[in-house]
Amino acid sequence: MDIDFMYKLKEYNIIDNPFDYKYLDAEIIEKYQFFADQFEKLYEEKNERYNLTDCFFYIRDDISCNAFARNKRGYNIIGITKGYAVQMLEAFDEKIISNNSINKLIESNNGSISSGYKKLLKTNDFSVSKFMLNCSNQFTFGHEFQHILQFNSSKIIVENYISENIDLSNFCIKRHAWELDADFFATWDVFGYILNVKNGYYFKNKQDINENAFICLLFLGIGSICITKTFSYFGKWNYKNDIKKINFYTKKHSHPHPLVRILHILDSYHDQIKDSFPSLKIDKQGLLNNVMLLMEIYFKTQSPNKKILSSFFKDIDRYLNIANEYKDELYDIAIKDEAIRTLLNKRNIKFKE
Ligand SMILES: [Zn+2]
Repeated sequence: MDIDFMYKLKEYNIIDNPFDYKYLDAEIIEKYQFFADQFEKLYEEKNERYNLTDCFFYIRDDISCNAFARNKRGYNIIGITKGYAVQMLEAFDEKIISNNSINKLIESNNGSISSGYKKLLKTNDFSVSKFMLNCSNQFTFGHEFQHILQFNSSKIIVENYISENIDLSNFCIKRHAWELDADFFATWDVFGYILNVKNGYYFKNKQDINENAFICLLFLGIGSICITKTFSYFGKWNYKNDIKKINFYTKKHSHPHPLVRILHILDSYHDQIKDSFPSLKIDKQGLLNNVMLLMEIYFKTQSPNKKILSSFFKDIDRYLNIANEYKDELYDIAIKDEAIRTLLNKRNIKFKE
């Protein structure tokens, strides 16, 4: 966004705390500009498709890791905090997601999956860490964009604001249903992005991404989303050195528990793959196993001393049924919600009643 215009929006109270990074060192500018360019481009593509006007993206001067959507006086604002940019670059740094991590995936798999990862390592211009960061950004953008559509489809809005960090004091079941709806469409965006990578849109010279490598892209893509959601599960975004797990809950707080969200995202993603590429024959258990393996390798490299994953797996065992039941309950609420119904009908999406 143009700096003068950004300050004008601040003056009119449409946005708060804009982060003006243009006066910083070139190297730092480049980092924030990467996020601004990516989000602005995605927003432009989408608002044209959905006929939205006055859509703006900005970075807020805030060190916590957060993203948000706001509709105020006709302006549709999507934003991330500067902490989001910093933490995401750290989470998907190439030192953490290195060739070494991919070699571990190759060793832990066999047959076609192993050869798929080998193929990706040999693909020119392809960086696994960048790919995972891009998938994560696609998800964040897609999620916030769906909130913008929800606001615009809702009849009673004067001002609407949703941010993504869990607010412990603020429960509303409709809001939980909106969150799962936003995750569902964000998952589609990630899937669409992976298809574009598969079709060679981002390579200087067109390269062959064969079926095995495509399957590995699908695992890495959704793996990056599960990794970021696991961070919020353990409160890492806010308490960098002091991991504080969020105990399982259903009808509480502003957002559904990250475990409910992860299971819902995996389910949605599996359905999308199955419907679009039935010949790939990726079953739900296979998808889950591969994502878990990726997470295991990732968290061992990222934080070897913290028993993040064993605690996560224990919770899955313990709360799987209740999380799935709650997910189904939210689905029923979502399809009765007026804003969501209108959007599904507009997109011609059939839903089970
Ligand atoms: Zn949300």
